[in-house]
Amino acid sequence: MEDLRDKYEVVIGLEVHAQLKTKSKIFAPDGCEFGKEPNSETSPITLGMPGVLPVLNKEAVNMGILTGLALNCEIPERCKFDRKQYFYPDLPKGYQISQYDEPICVNGYLNVKGKRIGITRAHLEEDAGKLVHAGADGLAGSSYSLVDLNRAGTPLLEIVSEPDMRSSEEARNYMEELRNIVRYIGVCDGNLEEGSMRCDANISIMPKGSKEFGTRAEIKNVNSFSALQRAIEYEIDRQIEIVEEGGKVIQETRLWDDNARETKSMRGKEDAHDYRYFPEPDLMPLKISREWVEEIRAKMPELPQAKRERYMSLGLSEYDASVIVEQMGLALFFDEVLKLGASPKIAVNFIMGEIAAYLKETKLEINETKLTPENLVELISLIEKNTISNNIGKQIIVDMMKDGSKASEIVEKRGLSQISDTGAIKEIAQKVCDANPDQVTAYKNGKVQLLGFFVGQVMKETKGRANPKAVNEILKEILG
Ligand code: ADP
Ligand code: MG
Repeated sequence: MEDLRDKYEVVIGLEVHAQLKTKSKIFAPDGCEFGKEPNSETSPITLGMPGVLPVLNKEAVNMGILTGLALNCEIPERCKFDRKQYFYPDLPKGYQISQYDEPICVNGYLNVKGKRIGITRAHLEEDAGKLVHAGADGLAGSSYSLVDLNRAGTPLLEIVSEPDMRSSEEARNYMEELRNIVRYIGVCDGNLEEGSMRCDANISIMPKGSKEFGTRAEIKNVNSFSALQRAIEYEIDRQIEIVEEGGKVIQETRLWDDNARETKSMRGKEDAHDYRYFPEPDLMPLKISREWVEEIRAKMPELPQAKRERYMSLGLSEYDASVIVEQMGLALFFDEVLKLGASPKIAVNFIMGEIAAYLKETKLEINETKLTPENLVELISLIEKNTISNNIGKQIIVDMMKDGSKASEIVEKRGLSQISDTGAIKEIAQKVCDANPDQVTAYKNGKVQLLGFFVGQVMKETKGRANPKAVNEILKEILG
C-alpha cells in the first residue's frame, strides 16, 4: 500500500459538533447536566408538544460568538434559525432547529502546527435525544429500544472545516487543537469518549498533482483521537484500492467500527435525506450588534497557541509547552505557580516529572490532589535556597499531593534539610572510601567513572541530604 499512497493526494474536511456547556437547553428551560435520571429534563418544549414556543438561550449565543472569535471567524450582523426535517425516534418534534444559510460564524481559520486550516462556518443547533438499543447495557436480553430525551435540545455548535487537511495526522492535530480551544474558552468539555465533542470526517483521494477533488465518503462514529486517525487511514486505503481496481468511490456515509478496525456503509447518496430546510417561523432572525461581539471579545482568555508561545519564551521546549497545554488543569496550575513568582524551570521539572507521574498513576486531575500552587512555590524556594536538594524535593512532593502538607513542615519533621557542612560530608566521604578499598584502587588506576558510585554511597549514607556539589568536590579531593 505504501508505494500506492505516493500516487495519491488525500483530502480531508472535518465537521465537529461541540456540546456547549450552558446550564439550560438552547430553546427550553430544562437543565443540560449529564447523567440525570432518564427523561427527567423534558419540558413540553423538549418533547415537541403542540403549541409550545422555543425561546433562544442567550448563553448559547454568547458561547457561539466566543468560539467563532477564537477560530478567527467573522460574526455576521444577522443570523437565523431553520428547521431541518427528518424522522427518527430521538427527535420528538420531527425536525431539528439548526442554522442553514445564515450561520452565526463564517470564514474562519486555525493555524495548526504551522498549517492553516480554513473554517467554512460554525452554526448553532439543538442535539437529539439518545436511543438505548435492545441488548445494550441495562437492556440485556431485550427486544426493544428505549429513548432518553434529556439530551434533546442541548446546544451544539457545529464547526465545519474547509477540505484543507492532507493527512490523518493533520486531521488529528486540527481536532486536538480545536478541543484545546473549546476547553480553554470554557464552552465545551471536549470529551470525545462521552460524546460532548463529536467528529464526522470527510475523506477523498485524487491523483497527485490533480486540482479536482475526488468523491468523498463521510465517516461517523469516531470517538477518540486515535480512532479518528485509524478511521482515516483505513478509509484512504479502501478508496485507493477501489480506484486502483478501476472502480469509483461513491459518495456515502460510513460508520467506523473501532473494534473491527473498519468502516461500513451506513447510507449512500441515493438515500441521503432531503431535509426540506425552511426558516424557523417561531424564532426571529438574530441581530448581533458589534458592541455585543466586542463585549465577548473582551472576555477571551489566553488561547492555547498563545499559551504555548508564552511557555516557550520562558525557556520551555516546544514539546514540554505542548504537553502542559494539552492538560488544561496542569496548565492553569502552572500559571498560578508562575504568578506567585516561582522559577519556571524548576516548576516544570516537578510538573512534568513527579506530579504528572502521580496524576497518571492515580488517574487524578491536579485539582483533585491536595497540592496548592502556594505549597509548590514554597518547595521550589527551599530548593533555590539550598535548604533541601532537588532530590529531597522529589521525594516529598508526592506526600504534599496526598495530604496537603507544606514542604517546610515535612523537612522539619523528618530532618531533611540539606547537609552543606563540609566537615560532616568529609567525614562520611572518608568512611565510604575506607569501606570500599577496591573501588578506591580502581579509581586511582584510572577508572574515574567510579566517582558516581562514591557519590551514590555518600548520598545513601545521608539519605539524599548531602549537597551534591559539595560531595563531588570533597570526593575528588579525597580520591586525589
Ligand atoms: P454536507 O453539507 O453535505 O455535509 P459540505 O459541502 O458542507 O457537505 O461539506 C462537509 C465537509 O466535507 C466539509 O468539512 C468539507 O470541507 C468536506 N469536503 C467537501 N468536499 C470534500 C472532498 N472532496 N473531500 C474531502 N472532504 C470534503
Ligand atoms: Mg455532512
